[in-house]
Formats: sequence, C-alpha cells, structure tokens
Amino acid sequence: MATNRTFTMLKPDAVEKGHIGAILEKISASGFRIVAMKLTQMTTKDAQAFYAIHSERPFFADLVEYMTRGPIVAAVLEKDNAVEDFRTLIGATNPADAAEGTIRKMFAESISENAVHGSDSDENAAIESAFHFSGREMF
Ligand code: UDP
Ligand code: MG
Repeated sequence: MATNRTFTMLKPDAVEKGHIGAILEKISASGFRIVAMKLTQMTTKDAQAFYAIHSERPFFADLVEYMTRGPIVAAVLEKDNAVEDFRTLIGATNPADAAEGTIRKMFAESISENAVHGSDSDENAAIESAFHFSGREMF
C-alpha cells in the first residue's frame, strides 16, 4: 500500500555549501509537505547501519566517511506518490546523468557527493524515517 511519505537527507556537501534553503524551497515548491525535519550528524555506526545494504560495495567506506563528516538535514516528506515523485525531483544518482532542473543536477558534484538522499520504496521510506525520528517527531 502506498503511504505517500518519503524520507530525505540533505547530505553534508549540500549543508557545507549553504544549499539548505534553496533545496528546501525546491522541495516545497514541488508540493511536498514537511512532516518532520532536523539538523543532525550521523555517527559511523549510524551510517554503516543506514547504508548496510551497500556494505559489500567498493565505495562503502568512502560513503560512510562522507555521510558522517558534517551535519545533514533529515526530513520526512508527504505528497501523493511521494517516493517516486521525490526520486524524479532529485534525479539520477550520478548528477552527470541527472535531468535538467533536478536537485542533483543543480546542487551535486559527483556520483558520491550527490547532495540529497531519497528513499527507493515505501518500505524503506518507513524504515529510514523511523531510523531518524520517533513517532512524536512526525507531524
Ligand atoms: N554512491 C557512491 N558511488 C557509487 C554509487 C553510489 O559513492 O558508485 C553513494 C552515493 O552517495 C549514493 C549512495 O552511495 O547516493 C547510495 O547509493 P544508491 O545506489 O542507493 O543511490 P541513490 O539511491 O542515492 O540514488
Ligand atoms: Mg538508494
């Protein structure tokens, strides 16, 4: 069943470059309602657990290093068809392949430092939201 919620992180590179406001503006203008949001920083253990599915990939150690090097903005977003529409809004994993006007095209540097996370399924959106927020923090 579609839940119409997705989970996002504005990653350390986006926060470092001062893009929080511009990215949130684009998210709001695209019809997403912010259900939960916070500035936080993942520990190594957090990032290893969050990205456990990628633990055997060659980029895993670099990914954990990147995602823990500074604060992120974690948020839960609501909209009809949220998971799919948000993946469309952020664009391809590699910004070089991302469509014009997508968040990754506009704000990302490389396939590894790609500015934003977006859940890839309703199931993972629920798991990832619960990883960062308690029920009382979601509105
Ligand atoms: N990543 C990377 N190198 C790659 C593929 C992915 O560094 O070749 C990083 C990148 O930050 C990406 C994250 O690992 O966003 C998770 O990868 P995934 O394939 O799930 O991409 P996404 O769902 O974020 O588009
Ligand atoms: Mg993914």
